[in-house]
Amino acid sequence: MDGLHSLIEISRFYGDNPAFVIAGGGNTSYKDSEKIWIKASGISLAGIGEDGFVCLSRKKLQLIETRDYGEDPVQRENEVKEDMHKAIISPANLRPSVETSLHNLIGYAYVIHTHPTLVNALLCARDAGHEVEARFGTEALYVDYTDPGFILFKDLQEQIGSYRRDHGKVPRIIFLQNHGVFVGADHVDEIKRLYEEIELRIKAGMRFHLPPSGPVDYRSDTAGAVNRHFSSRNLKSRSVRSALIDHFCGSHTQFEKISRPFTPDIIVYCKSNYLFLRKGTGAEGVGQALETFEKAFGHYPKVIVEEAGGLIVAEESDRALQTVLEVFLELMKISFLSDNFGGPHFMTPEQIHYIDNWEVEHYRRKVAKGL
Ligand SMILES: [Zn+2]
Repeated sequence: MDGLHSLIEISRFYGDNPAFVIAGGGNTSYKDSEKIWIKASGISLAGIGEDGFVCLSRKKLQLIETRDYGEDPVQRENEVKEDMHKAIISPANLRPSVETSLHNLIGYAYVIHTHPTLVNALLCARDAGHEVEARFGTEALYVDYTDPGFILFKDLQEQIGSYRRDHGKVPRIIFLQNHGVFVGADHVDEIKRLYEEIELRIKAGMRFHLPPSGPVDYRSDTAGAVNRHFSSRNLKSRSVRSALIDHFCGSHTQFEKISRPFTPDIIVYCKSNYLFLRKGTGAEGVGQALETFEKAFGHYPKVIVEEAGGLIVAEESDRALQTVLEVFLELMKISFLSDNFGGPHFMTPEQIHYIDNWEVEHYRRKVAKGL
């Protein structure tokens, strides 16, 4: 089928480019009047094939739009998931992306959702709303941050509806504050053109000079103490530096610019709190700081910044460690570039709490069910 082949091609095109997609983020879809093919949850866009997509009935998905799921977020999201599962045509063993209903809502054949560094430098900045308006006018829809899942879906449904009433069409570009962008079109060439246009308009008048970010390992007494602490607990850790990292670890004031997550995805991989260690912190101080952190947040820090030293990341496996590193470097890039648009704008404590809580709650119920 031509539509699906084009979808695979364009999914790989963006999936292979870390400027658009990192750590399995982003999702893509193709639809006709009856069916929608969407990336399965847990599959990454890079190198995706036909078996990475789930086909669903659009009619059954539309039932989700009209149902009332109640207030409890975990119960609500589970019920939505069940209804989504009922809409699957094939294959039954893959889970469709949690953003499937959003894709179904956007009335274009192809919808390509990504979290590009450049776009998030704008969307995670203080002046995001103004800057989008100034650069895109009515050609894009800008949506303030909303808790992900069904609430976001309902909010978008309303906003797309009012955009359509005002402009006689569904928006082709939808910017979600502190999240990413949805681009929709009936041809993949048009999608590429729109993404190029987005890049041009964001770059206009902006200083796009990023210090080199490629990390190299470094040693220090503090980093050594941290690494020993983690390895005694069977955790992997790595201490790295680069010009970009140096920029943020020079002082606590600089660290503050990377001290909270910008997007829900960052929380998923790096959690929402990061530890800052003063220059010259010895083994004893390191032990105390880690203990205090764990008491406060219930887990070890995945991200530590050593003042005038570098970045230390910790995780359970080498692969997961690499992901934390990539995601946190991305956070640094976003923060650095957001200076063009008024400086970094993190998720608020309430927004962070919702994601943290949802994850913990979700995990608890999963364990309780013995899954
Ligand atoms: Zn997303």
